[in-house]
Amino acid sequence: MTKQRQKLLQKIATEHGTPVFVIDLEQIRANYREFKEKLPKVQAYFAVKANSDPEIVETMYELGASFDVASLPEFMLVHENIKHLPKKEKQDFIWDKIIYANTIKPAHVLTKLNCYKVLVTFDNIEELKKIKQHAPDVGLVLRLRVPNTGSMVELSSKFGAHPGEAVDLMAEAINLGLGVEGISFHVGSQCNNFDNYMQALNVSHSIFKEAKLRGLEIGFVKNGQRTKVLDIGGGFPVKYSPDVKSFTILAKKLNSEISRLFGKNRVQVIAEPGRFMVATACALVTKIVGKSIRDGKTCYYLDDGVYHTFSGQVFDHQHYPLHSFKDGEKKICATFGPTCDAFDTISLADELPEDLQIDDLLYAENIGAYTTGSATFFNGFPPAKVVYINK
Ligand SMILES: *Cc1c(COP(=O)(O)O)cnc(C)c1O
Repeated sequence: MTKQRQKLLQKIATEHGTPVFVIDLEQIRANYREFKEKLPKVQAYFAVKANSDPEIVETMYELGASFDVASLPEFMLVHENIKHLPKKEKQDFIWDKIIYANTIKPAHVLTKLNCYKVLVTFDNIEELKKIKQHAPDVGLVLRLRVPNTGSMVELSSKFGAHPGEAVDLMAEAINLGLGVEGISFHVGSQCNNFDNYMQALNVSHSIFKEAKLRGLEIGFVKNGQRTKVLDIGGGFPVKYSPDVKSFTILAKKLNSEISRLFGKNRVQVIAEPGRFMVATACALVTKIVGKSIRDGKTCYYLDDGVYHTFSGQVFDHQHYPLHSFKDGEKKICATFGPTCDAFDTISLADELPEDLQIDDLLYAENIGAYTTGSATFFNGFPPAKVVYINK
C-alpha cells in the first residue's frame, strides 16, 4: 500500500473511529472494467452475496452490470435500483438484469419472483414442481454439477444436477410447460485450477448437443431467433497472494474455448463474478485495545475480529494479514478479536512490530469479499462502520 493511501486510511480512522471498513468505489469500477475488457462478450451478473453494500450495488448498476441474487432481500435490494427506470424500459430490462441463482427457492419467494421476468436456476425435480405451481412464467437455467478441485470454496456437494441427468431434467421442465433458457455452473469460489472451467464448458457443450438431438427447444426467442443462455458462474480468482494464477490467463482461455465450442451457435454467455469485483476494493482499519505477553509472545487485542469483519476466515477460508502504520522490527505476534471467546483469534502468526501500543492502528487489505456479509453482533460488538472513498 502506498504511503499516501496509508495516510488516507489513518485520517478516516481518526475522523470516524474504529473499526472502520473503507470501500473504494473507484476500485469497484476498475475491477468491473477489467472484467469487461478481458471478457468482452460475457455479461457480468455481479453476485451480490460477496458484498451486498447498497453503494456497491448502485455503482455496479451505473456501470451497466447485471446481478446474481440468491435471496428475496438481495432481489429487492437490486430491484430498488432498477425501479428508477421508466416503466417501459423496466419491462424489457429485468430479464437481462437479474438471475436468481439459488437452486432452492421457498414457495413464497417463487410467487414473488413470478411477478418479474427473472431467470432462476434449478437442479432437481422437486424444485421444478414448485416452480410449475408458484412461478410458471420465470425463465429456467439448469445448474450443472461440475468438478471443483483446486477451488478455495467448493459448491458441488450442495448444488448442481449430475451431467447424466441434465437433459432428462430439462425435458421434464419443458413437459411441464416451463421455459428452459440454458445451463449454468459454478466451478467453486477462488478457483486456481482453470481446467475446472474448461471441463465445465465441454460438459455444457455436450449437454446442449444432446438436448438438440432429443429435439428439446432451449433458449429464448429474440428477433425471431432462438438464443441459449450459458452461465459460467463465478470463481474468478483474486490475487490475495503471489501463487494465485492470473485472471488475464483465465480470461484468454475462456475466450478461446467459448469461441471454439459455441462460436457457431447462438449462445449468450453470462457470468456471476462476486469476489473478483469487491475483494480488492475494501480495507479495514482496526485499533489495538489491549496488549499482553503470553508464553513469550506479544499478543494484540483488537476492536474487530473473527465474529465481525474477519468472519471470512471461517466461512471463506481466507486470511487477511494485518499491517502496522508504524515501522519497526517485525516479530511473530498473535492478534485477537474483542469478544470473550478464544475462537476469536485472528492469527497466531501475524508479522507485526512488537512495540506497538494501545490505541495504535492496524490495517488489512483485500478484505472486501465474504467478510462484512457474514459479520455478526456477537457479544454486543457491532460490525465495523462503513466509509466510502471515490464516490
Ligand atoms: C457465490 C456465488 C457466486 C459468486 O462466486 P465468486 O466465486 O465470488 O465469484 C456466483 N454464483 C453463484 C451461484 C454463487 O453461489
